[in-house]
Amino acid sequence: MTEITGKINLLGLTQPKLEAFFETLGEKPFRAGQVMKWVHHFGVDNFDDMSNISKVLREKLKEHAEIRGPEVVSEDISTDGTRKWVVRVASGSCVETVFIPQNGRGTLCVSSQAGCALDCSFCSTGKQGFNSDLTVAEIIGQVWLANKSFGTVPGSIDRSITNVVMMGMGEPLLNFDNVVDAMNLMMHDLGYGISKRKVTLSTSGVVPMIEKLGTVTDVALALSLHAPNDALRDQLVPLNKKYPLSVLLAACNNYIAGLGERRYLTIEYTLLKDVNDSPEQALELIELLRETPCKINLIPFNPFPHSGYERPSNNAIRRFQDLLHQAGYNVTVRTPRGEDIDAACGQLVGQVMDRTRRSERYIAVRQLGDEPVVAAPPNSRR
Ligand code: SF4
Repeated sequence: MTEITGKINLLGLTQPKLEAFFETLGEKPFRAGQVMKWVHHFGVDNFDDMSNISKVLREKLKEHAEIRGPEVVSEDISTDGTRKWVVRVASGSCVETVFIPQNGRGTLCVSSQAGCALDCSFCSTGKQGFNSDLTVAEIIGQVWLANKSFGTVPGSIDRSITNVVMMGMGEPLLNFDNVVDAMNLMMHDLGYGISKRKVTLSTSGVVPMIEKLGTVTDVALALSLHAPNDALRDQLVPLNKKYPLSVLLAACNNYIAGLGERRYLTIEYTLLKDVNDSPEQALELIELLRETPCKINLIPFNPFPHSGYERPSNNAIRRFQDLLHQAGYNVTVRTPRGEDIDAACGQLVGQVMDRTRRSERYIAVRQLGDEPVVAAPPNSRR
């Protein structure tokens, strides 16, 4: 990736791309593996620290390349151990990354875009519009900086980040190539060595890209569903008008069929009072998902100013959950985490540069999220 400095940022290069880079320098491709280990395993961003690289090569690297993580604007730690980073990306916008420790696991919720073009009705990120796709370095950089902050080495037994969910700001399938490269680095042995079962991409339903995803990777898939029928989903997730539930679920079923034994889809369903939380809608959801192997995450809505939606009562939430349970579904209800640092579901605040006014004014974005998939992290936008 070419940054402002004009140098290549090695943080965002997959092994084949890094090997190609070394070849352009007239160096052997195996250097790529050495450098990847320094960058991702040890969090090194200074070529002089790479002790198994010759001084001559280090000087050459300094001339042509750099290792630059995202600029950290703030880092907060909750009393429950949740951590939140606000990072500034090259477009000038800020995005957020959240780490949620839970039951021996550590889930990192990663952003893929600054802002979002999809305008889901309950999501203030969408209301702010789209600002920019994150580069590979900006996506993997969120893992890099979180990992660095723990001082742990990927592959060691006490590693802190066990799961990654592409569930922060933005629709990851609309930044396809960069997200795929970043996920490959997350899973690579010379990257972060995270199992493909523990890297989850969450989408609101970009059908052609779900099909394409199945041709290049087999990470876990989550669907931000939020409604049991097209009429309601058209209102909540406007993308549904383009890709209605029948084609969307067919694409998801097709994708998870390629996952072998772990073939199930995670359904994310934000519960909105008197909108999608009735017993009739629970029954409709059961019918809708009849052919889809899945587990269901229910995310009680966390209200934010002018959202127009409310959180259902605990009784309504329990009633909805019970009906799904009785139908045999594995259902979890999200427990908010990191509320004291505004990292809980619906509390994420990014800052998106307003593209319609080319000034340096930034708009605070309250980011509505729902339950991340693997370890019920708190904050993602769906
Ligand atoms: S819920 Fe997700 S896809 Fe929808 S507008 Fe928000 S960030 Fe975009």
